[in-house]
Amino acid sequence: MQKGGSDSDGREFKSAEEMWREQVGEDQSKKTEWYREGVGYWEGVEASTDGVLGGFGHVSDADVRDSEAFLNGLLSELLPNAANSQRHLVALDCGSGIGRVTKNLLIRYFNEVDLLEPVSHFLETARESLAPENQMVSDMHKATNFFCVPLQEFTPEAGRYDIIWVQWCIGHLTDDDFVSFFTRAKVGLKPGGLFVLKENIARNGFVLDKEDRSITRSDLYFKELFRQCGLHLYKIKDQKGWPQELFAVKIYALTTELPKKVHRTRSKVQANRPAIIK
Ligand code: SAH
Repeated sequence: MQKGGSDSDGREFKSAEEMWREQVGEDQSKKTEWYREGVGYWEGVEASTDGVLGGFGHVSDADVRDSEAFLNGLLSELLPNAANSQRHLVALDCGSGIGRVTKNLLIRYFNEVDLLEPVSHFLETARESLAPENQMVSDMHKATNFFCVPLQEFTPEAGRYDIIWVQWCIGHLTDDDFVSFFTRAKVGLKPGGLFVLKENIARNGFVLDKEDRSITRSDLYFKELFRQCGLHLYKIKDQKGWPQELFAVKIYALTTELPKKVHRTRSKVQANRPAIIK
């Protein structure tokens, strides 16, 4: 990415390359440090909705509402059998934190949800609140696996997921690990499955957060990375009703194959509409 950016102290970078060179460099030890500090930041955060949303727990309802509308659209368009429950649906909630997205949304639509979260006290809170005795789950809708690993070290089981949901955690990954994660994770999707990425969006370039070791990317930056991953944008939506002081948020649905367009042959088109007899 040629575009410049800044950090949380207002310092400017000429390009993302310059920022990454400084933050993670070429040698593995600096990169390990980047990830250790990222997870270290979250290890010090309370396992609550307010905690995982950086003190903005009250936006959770609006977030879930727009995500639900987006998910409904996807399920009816792409997985039409889902609506009449002919298909056993499985989702992966990446960077799940305390399981907020699973509890409020995914578990109601998917028969199984797996959670991935590198911070163990978050994952344990998710496990407790999704336990059968807490009545969040039934035989038909349950949280199955709890993976305590970071995204950059994870490869999903082949062909398991209808949707891999990635919300508010991809900013922790460097560009290289972003591209290699999505490229690897494609094998985890069922045919016709897709990725949903919900993220904060920078107005231009990127903003580096030095406190939690993450970056907020612009829409253009994301699209360039999707291209590098070989992913196609199926659908995109802006989060509505969002506080002014927060970054704007977008939801992307990404497919591994080019979305199919309905191509009609000329003769069919002619045959199916009124026409003048010549
Ligand atoms: N997606 C959840 C949590 C958001 S908070 C929600 O919307 O409620 C950000 C989460 O990203 C934290 O739980 C944090 O531990 C996780 N995270 C940090 N680094 C990560 C990494 N390298 N891989 C995956 N998740 C990471």
